[in-house]
Amino acid sequence: MACQGTWPRKDHFIADLELSKVYLHDDQYFPGWTIVVFQRHATELFQLAPTERFQLIEEVNRVAKTLADVYQAKKMNYELLGNQLPHIHWHVIPRLSGDPAPMEPVWRVPHSPRLLAGAALHEAIDRLACPLHMAR
Ligand SMILES: [Zn+2]
Repeated sequence: MACQGTWPRKDHFIADLELSKVYLHDDQYFPGWTIVVFQRHATELFQLAPTERFQLIEEVNRVAKTLADVYQAKKMNYELLGNQLPHIHWHVIPRLSGDPAPMEPVWRVPHSPRLLAGAALHEAIDRLACPLHMAR
């Protein structure tokens, strides 16, 4: 998966930060749902050197701030679960004013996945790639 480069999808790539890579999540039912993947293999935050841990959080923070600005989020969600894919990856999800279930984590909201392709996918990636690089 993350180590083998089979997920997240390469055509969903947004940005390469120093310790992490950023991808648009396959399912855009919650617009702006983004994945931040730690570049080397590790499964728990306590396996990282303190300096890596600090920097990773700074990178997750940079992604969150960008998403909040671009999507005018009411609240940001940060999820580091790893039950299905242990390799460290954060789900960073802007929750918007039209959210169908603002009190629930996204996983508990039944829905059909909203998959983007072509121009819609490129537009969603471009909206984030530029401000994310400018935020460095
Ligand atoms: Zn891995």
